[in-house]
This record gives sequence, C-alpha cells and structure tokens, in this order.
Amino acid sequence: AKGQGRNNFQCFTSSMNEKVSERLLLETGLRDALLRDEFELYYQPQYDFARNRLSGCEALIRWNSPSGMVMPDRFIPLAEETGLIISIGAWVLEEACRQGELWNRDSVEPLSVAVNVSAVQFRPELVDEVRNVLDSTGFDPELLVLEVTESVLMSDVDSSVLLLQQLRDLGIRIALDDFGTGYASLAYLKRFVLDKLKIDRAFIMGIPEDRDDVAITSSIIDIARHLNIMTVAEGVETEAHCEFLRAAGCNLAQGYYFDKPLSADEFTQRLK
Ligand code: C2E
Ligand code: CA
Ligand code: CA
Ligand code: CA
Repeated sequence: AKGQGRNNFQCFTSSMNEKVSERLLLETGLRDALLRDEFELYYQPQYDFARNRLSGCEALIRWNSPSGMVMPDRFIPLAEETGLIISIGAWVLEEACRQGELWNRDSVEPLSVAVNVSAVQFRPELVDEVRNVLDSTGFDPELLVLEVTESVLMSDVDSSVLLLQQLRDLGIRIALDDFGTGYASLAYLKRFVLDKLKIDRAFIMGIPEDRDDVAITSSIIDIARHLNIMTVAEGVETEAHCEFLRAAGCNLAQGYYFDKPLSADEFTQRLK
C-alpha cells in the first residue's frame, strides 16, 4: 500500500511537471509568435436573412506554431494572463482592417468585419488604437465591429458605458458576444449602446427540440428588435436552426451550416 501511494504521488508530480512545462513551452512560443509572423486570421461568413446574402465575417485567430496549428481556446487565456494579448490583439485589429479594406475595394456590396476584443484590451487606450488602425488602413469605420462579452462590460459598468460611447463615436459598431451566458441583465442593454447581439451557440443547439432554448432565443430576438439592436445567431449548424431563426426574425446567422471559418484566400474565393 505504501509503495502504491508513492507511485501515485510520482504520477501526480510528473503530470504537474508536464502541465508546467507545457505552459512554459506555450508561453515561450507565444512570445516569439508575433515576431515570426505565425498568427493567421480565419474569417467565418455571416449571412443576412433578409437580403439572402453574405454580409460580413468574424475574424478568428489561429496560431501556426512550429508544432502545428493551435486554436485560440488553447492560447488566448495564456496570452491574457501574460499581457501578450495587448500586442496580439493590436495585430488582429490591424490585420482584420487591412484585409477588410482589400475586400471592400473590389466589392460592390459592403462587407463588415468583426474582431474579438479581450477584457485585457478593453481599456481607454483601445480608442486611440482603433482610431490609428482605421487611419492607417483606410477601412470604413462603419464596417468594423468589435465583439465584447458581457463579463468584459460588467467588471466596471460606468467605465464601460463611457468607453463604448467613445468607440462608437469613431463610427464603428459594437456587438455583445455570447449573449445569454453571462450575468448582464436586460437593463444593461439600455445602458450599453450596442449595435448587435450575438445569441450564444448554447441556445441555438437546442433548437427546435428544446422548448426552453426556443423560448429564450425568440425572446432575445424580440427584445433586440424592440431596442433596435441587430441579432446574430452563432453556431447555426442545421437547416432546422436556419428555418427557425429566419421565421423568428433573426437578422444574421453564422455557423457550420453555411461555412466554417475560412482562410483569407478561401474567403476571397467565396466572395467571387
Ligand atoms: P467566439 O467569439 O464565440 O467564436 C465562435 C467560435 O465558434 C469559433 O471558435 C468558431 O470557429 C466556432 N464556431 C463557428 N461556427 C460554429 C458551429 O456551427 N458549431 C460549432 N460547434 N462551433 C462553431 P474558435 O475559432 O476556436 O474561437 C474560439 C474563441 O476564441 C472565440 O469564441 C473567441 O472567444 C476567442 N478568439 C478567437 N479569435 C480571437 C481573437 O482574435 N482575439 C480574442 N481576444 N479572442 C479570440
Ligand atoms: Ca466572437
Ligand atoms: Ca461568440
Ligand atoms: Ca463562444
């Protein structure tokens, strides 16, 4: 029994060591990734129900590390903890606007580009960053959407209200991401000046079988419409999702049913 205990302990420490060294490896790699130009943006199309066409996209970061492609859920939290998200986020913003400007230059229909903003980036300096990127890339502010989550806004409501106002004064749009999963109450929809609500995939998944998900989704769409806020459904995977959302009056849809996130080249092909 004693021997076994020691074995367990060894297993425990070696798996802890693995975690620590994996994290160290990830962190070292992450520090160099910008210099080595290893990040890449993928773009997931968003479809407009009323106009029956692609009207925009969401930029989603990928890390082409020396040991293969790393998805954001694996490195964004670490980038946030280490503060690296500030420089990574600045790169994402600039790259998305640069690409967005290129696409809009040879397109008749305007194409919006949405960029995810982490809590760490959501600070007063963001206003100047966005203004500078708009200036340097020439991207139309009205086509830039910043996606923030409820928890980002709720950590300091008064500052958030002010910051959102300053961002919107630049002419850009704000989307509330993962709506319904956080703890923002409906009252905040009035205080935060928002252009779009993204209905979280967790609710879309249950449509049409789960009566609660159906009720929640259609209520969100109704409330948003009355507040003059556009709705975007995320994680739209089936025709049934699509039919329900269209009938419920949802404005935009994004998900595997239409397209998975595409590389810039693939997206350019899709536009043709
Ligand atoms: P998110 O903002 O909620 O992005 C949507 C995620 O759902 C993406 O995962 C997308 O690939 C995935 N998705 C899209 N359609 C479907 C579908 O039909 N079914 C399912 N099951 N999933 C779908 P991804 O690209 O792995 O990104 C994960 C998260 O990482 C994002 O969640 C976002 O929070 C974060 N993220 C991605 N790019 C950035 C970035 O540039 N900056 C920051 N700060 N965060 C980012
Ligand atoms: Ca998002
Ligand atoms: Ca989301
Ligand atoms: Ca999400």
